[in-house]
Amino acid sequence: MSAEPFIAVLIGPGGVGKGTLARALVEADPRLWLSKSWTTRPVRATEDGTEYYFVDRATFERAIEDDSFLEWAEFHGNLYGTPRPQAGEHDVLLEIEVQGAEQVLAHDATAVVILVVAPSMEQLEERLRGRGDGDEHVEKRLSSAPHELAKGQAIATRVVVNDDVERATREILSILEELRPARRSPSKKD
Ligand code: 5GP
Repeated sequence: MSAEPFIAVLIGPGGVGKGTLARALVEADPRLWLSKSWTTRPVRATEDGTEYYFVDRATFERAIEDDSFLEWAEFHGNLYGTPRPQAGEHDVLLEIEVQGAEQVLAHDATAVVILVVAPSMEQLEERLRGRGDGDEHVEKRLSSAPHELAKGQAIATRVVVNDDVERATREILSILEELRPARRSPSKKD
């Protein structure tokens, strides 16, 4: 039987820079493979359509019935889900919201969950607005940030402040370096 992959999960309020960090992490560490999620939300004007597998609700619901997701959740009216990763050489990096991270932990208590936080609420707001989202959308995301933070803090292995992408990337890499070998089964050959 093949060993389950080591799973690292980035969580944190929308706009905190998880996506940028996730891309920087896989670029810096070839052992990490970034999972691409499915979503029913529309493509944003600032996106090129490769950020997710953008699908309609019926397609997503069929995939749920087929048990195709490692985890999935509804977030602000849209569905998001992580396809089950193939067992392989790589460690798996997920960039998801907190209900999904809870499901991952329920299946795999060895997953490392990193809560990414903004240096301040003002910075979070600035980043959300800079992303081109409408006012109503920004307000909705900001109002749910404290709840996401509280839930995130309850399950996070570590908390990292995204004050600077390079610095935060280095911090996360060193956390993974510290926790990865200890959590690997000793029988698994590297
Ligand atoms: P956005 O619409 O801003 O791209 O994403 C909204 C939230 O959904 C973000 O917190 C993002 O991390 C999360 N998300 C993205 N993909 C997944 C997924 O596969 N599962 C879950 N549970 N959340 C996801």
